[in-house]
Amino acid sequence: MRPLIAGNWKMNGSIASGAALVAAIMEQRAEIDPGCDILVCPPFLAIRTIGDLIQNSPIFLGAQDCHKDSEGAHTGDVSATMLSDVGCDFVIVGHSERRANHQEIDETVLFKAEAAHANNLVAIICVGETFDDRQNDRTLSIIENQFNGSVPKSSVSNNTVIAYEPVWAIGTGLTPSPMQIAQVHDFIRELLKKNFVEAEAFRVIYGGSVNPDNSKEILSINNVDGSLVGGASLKSEDFWAICKSV
Ligand code: PEP
Repeated sequence: MRPLIAGNWKMNGSIASGAALVAAIMEQRAEIDPGCDILVCPPFLAIRTIGDLIQNSPIFLGAQDCHKDSEGAHTGDVSATMLSDVGCDFVIVGHSERRANHQEIDETVLFKAEAAHANNLVAIICVGETFDDRQNDRTLSIIENQFNGSVPKSSVSNNTVIAYEPVWAIGTGLTPSPMQIAQVHDFIRELLKKNFVEAEAFRVIYGGSVNPDNSKEILSINNVDGSLVGGASLKSEDFWAICKSV
């Protein structure tokens, strides 16, 4: 399957810096196909501009969150319907920063993923344990609970990507060992098999301190079908180097 390299820009940059970032990526992509799908997820306010810039390129557009409802009295929120209207292909749901900063529980994430599906968006559903969970041998049970609670029945391989993102690895420079990553990704594949007939076709991507130095090793692990990249997606050279390491 074709891996996915997704850049989560989080709450960073300006319209100008985002435009420069995608311009540099498009320039490289015009010369070679690194063999992966490339996705950028800018902040909401930059989505329109970035979408216009990448419109005729093979780069996909995504958002970092959506509301579960398609419209209504939800001050400050953005719906999956609106994201679809502005040209998004993907939306990240259940990122650990949303779960922690906005008290999102599995059910919230489930409803958001369903909203994504209803609006023809691919939902990137994030799961991952805290450091405390890992220290106390709860990693697999946490992943199983999050998976069962957040992945909707409407999921199929072309509308859903599962992102394994250990909370303690995000933005810290720490990464699990290749064996630890393999264990969780194999486990997620088994959960997919229990729930979905086309389980083998779903992309299961890893996120947490991926950079150009560790990406080759991480992306070569069995059942790692790409990466969700935070900090390193803000520098075009680093993001491109990760894409090429596929
Ligand atoms: C993320 O927030 O999804 C992420 C993986 O961040 P970073 O690459 O900076 O650890």
